[in-house]
Amino acid sequence: MAQYDTASLANLIDHFASLPGIGSKTAQRLAFHILDLPLEEAKQFADAILEAKTKIHTCKVCQNLTDLEVCSICTNKDRDEGIICVVENPRDVLAFERTREFKGLYHVLHGVISPMDGVGPDQIKIKELLARVGDGKVHEVIMATNPTVEGEATAMYVSKLLNPLGVKVTRLAYGIPVGADLQYADETTLGRALSGRNVI
Ligand SMILES: [Zn+2]
Repeated sequence: MAQYDTASLANLIDHFASLPGIGSKTAQRLAFHILDLPLEEAKQFADAILEAKTKIHTCKVCQNLTDLEVCSICTNKDRDEGIICVVENPRDVLAFERTREFKGLYHVLHGVISPMDGVGPDQIKIKELLARVGDGKVHEVIMATNPTVEGEATAMYVSKLLNPLGVKVTRLAYGIPVGADLQYADETTLGRALSGRNVI
């Protein structure tokens, strides 16, 4: 941003512009908004970024984001530990939680297999899922990856690994358009996709 002779302002604008969905105009608006804040508020904002970044990590069981060692869903005794819903990312967990229909546990893969993007099975949390299913308590795994080419391929790949373990593997049913992103599906659609799931 050469038009500002203040390097720190240009730097702040560049950081905002690097965020997803933020164009250069919005980045400028956000940077000027920060400059208008009282120092204490700007500090709280900066601290919130650092605190989230340093405290939040993945749950050692389900790989969802948490600031605890094991997340509050995994430790909740009211959840059914016999069913695991496998999703691509933490935002999908939030989408399923909003439906209030799912009472089992989750497993977050942190991506999908995508050879085009250089993502193989070892780069996502498949090993961790197999380790959980191997303990005998799990009777069903719901593959709730997105209905995209990569999401479908990942669901099939994982189901082939799970089938020999004697666990029922299901896939979300109708209602989710092909190519859609689960996290944007409304609660009714997602709830229906969940209740009408099919064995794969
Ligand atoms: Zn967890």
